[in-house]
Amino acid sequence: MIPRPIQHQLLTTLYDTFADWADTFAFVCRKGCATCCTRSVTMTSLEGEWIVNFLDEAGRRSELAAHAFQPATNRESQCTTNAFVAAHLRGESVEEAENWDMRPCPFLKEESCSIYPVRPFGCRLFASQDSCAVSGVAEMPPGYLAGATALLQYIEHLDNGGRWGTMVELLTGLNNGQAENYGEPAAPIPGFLIAPDELALVEPLLHDLLAQEVNGQTFAQWLQVSRP
Ligand code: SF4
Repeated sequence: MIPRPIQHQLLTTLYDTFADWADTFAFVCRKGCATCCTRSVTMTSLEGEWIVNFLDEAGRRSELAAHAFQPATNRESQCTTNAFVAAHLRGESVEEAENWDMRPCPFLKEESCSIYPVRPFGCRLFASQDSCAVSGVAEMPPGYLAGATALLQYIEHLDNGGRWGTMVELLTGLNNGQAENYGEPAAPIPGFLIAPDELALVEPLLHDLLAQEVNGQTFAQWLQVSRP
């Protein structure tokens, strides 16, 4: 198991590498547009701990006890990203969730993110080439979602022994010290769902990330350590 501080270094390296790649696209997203900021955002407990630390340092930990952070009681268990990919690779169909909670995210204040520096990857990947406030749908370039999904898989893989779920439910679990009772177990990478025509776009992102040096080893080497 990788020590938690190094897992957090790997996470910030992944965030930075993804941001450089995403900057090569012409997205229209700007501060103040928050259509995608809902309670259905998912993440890992690794990302959640970073948010809890941020709130602790800012003297805002009490926010997590607010009613807005109570998870929906009718939520069904969901497939984690890696469990979803594994099922597809086995040729099994996966039921899409139908009861996502689309109410605004509790961290959305005056149309801005109040935890912006530590927002999870599920927030970072949301982007659109057209205003989704008008169409209601995010327009992503071909291959963009495949690249972002591969990085979601890396994060889940790194969080060995951790949990995957909605941000709201995992933060509730981390706040009350019972994270193991929320969400699903984080799973290792079973492979990827990248179509042949998406490879040219996605490969530079993965190549760049896997070659990054973190604490004396490459990102690729840390992935092996995480799940030997
Ligand atoms: S954490 Fe921030 S970016 Fe993510 S959904 Fe909430 S307000 Fe939006």
